[in-house]
Order: sequence, then structure tokens, then C-alpha cells
Amino acid sequence: MRADSRLARLGLWLRAHQGQIRALQWLVVAIYLVLLILPALLPLPPAQASLLDSLNGIAQMLFWGLWWPGVILSVLLFGRLWCGLLCPEGMLSEWASQCGRGRRAPDWLRWPGWPLLAFVLTTVYGQLLSVYQYPRPALLILGGSTVAAMAVGYAYARNKRIWCRYLCPVSGVFGLLARLAPLHYAVDRAAWDAPPSRKVIAINCAPLIDIRRMDSASQCHQCGRCAGQRDAVQWAWRQPGQEIITLRPEQTRGWEVALLLYGLIGTAGGAFLWSSSTLLLQAKQGLAGWLIEHEQALWLLDDTAPWWLLTHYPQLNDSFSWLDGALILAYIALAALALGSWAWAWLAAAARLLQHDWRARQRQLAYCLTPLAGLTLLLGLSLTSFSQLRGLGLALNWRGWLQGGLLLAGLLWSLQLAWAQLAGLPRRRRALLLYAPAPIGIALVWLGLLFGA
Ligand code: SF4
Repeated sequence: MRADSRLARLGLWLRAHQGQIRALQWLVVAIYLVLLILPALLPLPPAQASLLDSLNGIAQMLFWGLWWPGVILSVLLFGRLWCGLLCPEGMLSEWASQCGRGRRAPDWLRWPGWPLLAFVLTTVYGQLLSVYQYPRPALLILGGSTVAAMAVGYAYARNKRIWCRYLCPVSGVFGLLARLAPLHYAVDRAAWDAPPSRKVIAINCAPLIDIRRMDSASQCHQCGRCAGQRDAVQWAWRQPGQEIITLRPEQTRGWEVALLLYGLIGTAGGAFLWSSSTLLLQAKQGLAGWLIEHEQALWLLDDTAPWWLLTHYPQLNDSFSWLDGALILAYIALAALALGSWAWAWLAAAARLLQHDWRARQRQLAYCLTPLAGLTLLLGLSLTSFSQLRGLGLALNWRGWLQGGLLLAGLLWSLQLAWAQLAGLPRRRRALLLYAPAPIGIALVWLGLLFGA
């Protein structure tokens, strides 16, 4: 395989410049630690202060307004390049594993449900602590995750990223979104198996991929270390979403589908929806009124829980009561169940129409919802970015067009992937009609959130 494209040559360049990449990673680690730790040590700015008036506000803008939406967008565009080249947590975990115990990763750690569980727990916990607004919750959640990543790196394997492969709360989400990306490391199996024309130098694939058999960008961190290996691996373009169109039943994973439906679409959707829900507000007012009137369980209205359990900033008039916390939990759980099960039911109906043994087909079709799930995640994170920009006095008249356009793009892309995936099957049109309510229903919920319809 000749490196006959610019991209392939860039892959070889990355392989040859791992030292510089490592230096860049240390720089990102330094910026990350400053933005994470310093604001948590400083007093909170007053409620009316501009975001640009304090390190707190600047860190908040960089982390939640720029960094996270930027990372999600980068995974959709470039695959997990972020993980391989810039992620401070992955880098620190691999660094810790260089000088660690090097033990074999135990079976419990390889449980495939961790990405779903970790994503749901961190998302919900973040909402209870108002992680987008305050620095101490950010330090606790992001910093805690980094410390855990280093501890796992220190304990297990040598020069690897066990944390990223099995435990990172966003690794499963990134793995899903990377399947859509137009960039991947393509492996020519025949060239790999052929006798090498020159000495083969062993490489270290930190996320433990069997490169010879790699046929998905899902787990690849796009670090470039294997570019040109045995003249069989090169960085290459592909049609966006091609991996999902050609997905085979044995390439689907039940836990990954559960993460997509009940985590990315359901839990993340509920987490973005609750703060603007009039239903939740009415439920809270009704319940609080009932408790006061009947003098029952008045402790539920107490808002003195510590900040690491529930949002507690009385000086800014922003504290959650136990009732607030319970209702937020209930709302997110119900939204996750409703959105996930809505999609699951329509996918099942479409799959049953196509074949008797329908479960594998249902999983294949579920992956077609990835564009809508990814773009709604981006939309949800951008709500914070836009509210920050509005707080700086920017008009943002184009905001609705951008958000509506992204939502429509996610919906159409999800429909197109399913149509392409079903090519050649009998009853294709009817199956698409049964599949379509899944993405359309999710898009309508988001339309309501974005435009108050
Ligand atoms: S397969 Fe492994 S070594 Fe190759 S680019 Fe992906 S993460 Fe890096």
C-alpha cells in the first residue's frame, strides 16, 4: 500500500513525530489543570458579573461553551483524533501505566456495560450539581475522572489506555460517533499478511486494538502510531456514515445500542430538557404546596444539602431542595425511558417486518440513529455556549437557523443511513416508514425544546 494521498502522508508524519505530539499533550494537560483547579480555589463571582470578569467565568466558557461542543464536533468530523492527540485524561492514564504495576486487566473491568453506566451516572450527577455553572462540581467530576483514569493506568497493563478502552464515561459515546466520521485508518489485510519487505518494528496501540483485523473507527484513537505498518495501514477518507451503512450483524453490540438509545438519546436528552420543562415546574409547585398544606415531609423542601450532593450556592440564590433533586432524577429517568423506548419500539417494528430473526436487524437499524443522537448532543451542549454568548451581549439572530439546520441535518442523515442500509431488501419502503417515527419523534421533542413549540 503506497502512501499516495496527502492524508496518508500526514498519517506517516504523525507516526514520525510522536515526541512532538507528546509535548503538545503535556501542554494541554497544563491548560486543563489550570482551568480545572484554579477557579475552584477562587471565590465565586457575584451573580451579575460578566463571564469575562473572572477566571471562573473564562474557565466556564472554555470548558462548557467551547471545549465540549468542540470535542463532539471533532469526533463527528475526524473520528477520535481528540483521544489520540489531545485528550489530557487519556494521555495521563497512558503515562501512569508506563511506570505502573502492569497487572492484567481483570474481567470485571472489561464488562461492556461500563460506558453506559458511567455516562448515565456522570450526566445525572453533573445535573444535580449544576456542573456547567460552578467550578467545584467541575473539579469533582472531571478531576475525579482524571484521578481514576491515572489510578487504573497505574494498576493495569503497560503503556496502554485501559481506562479509555473500558471505563471512560465518554468513550462509548465517542465510539458511536466515530463510526460516522469520514476519516479512519484503513487496513489492507492482504498486505498485512504478506511477507514484509523490510524489518517490522513493533508498535504500541494504546487502546489495545487488533490492528490486523480492524474494520471500524469506533475504538481507534487515530494516534497515527500504526500508519504505514507492514505497508498495510494508512489514514484514509471514506464516505461519512459508510461504516453504519455496511454494518454486519456480528459487528453490532447490544450494550452500545443501549448506550445510544437510553444514554445518548434518552439520558442526555432528559438532562438538557428538564431545566426548561413547565411540566416539571408545575409538578414541583404542586407537590411543594401539598406538602406545606398537609404538613408532611417538610424536610423535602430543605435546601441545605452540601454542594457535592445537590447544587448549593445560597449567596447566589441558587440551591436545590431535596424535592428539586428527586424531581430532576425522576424527570431524567422518565425522559430516558420514554425517548429510548419510543425509538426501540419503532426499530423493532421495522425489523420484524424485514425478517423473522429480527433482533440483529433491530440493532443494525439502531446505529442509523447515531447522526441525530450526535447532533442533538451537540445542540444540547451549544445551549450553554449560546447562553454564555448572550450574557456577553451578542445578539445571535442566526442561532435558530443554525440549531434548526443541525436538527434537520441529523434527522435527514438518520433517514438516509437507514434507507442505504436496507438497500436490496424486500419491503424496504415499508420498513423505512416504520423506522421513520423513531428519529422524527426525537426530533420533534428537540424542536419543542429549542423553539418552545
Ligand atoms: S489502531 Fe491503534 S495505533 Fe493505530 S491509529 Fe488507531 S489507536 Fe493508533
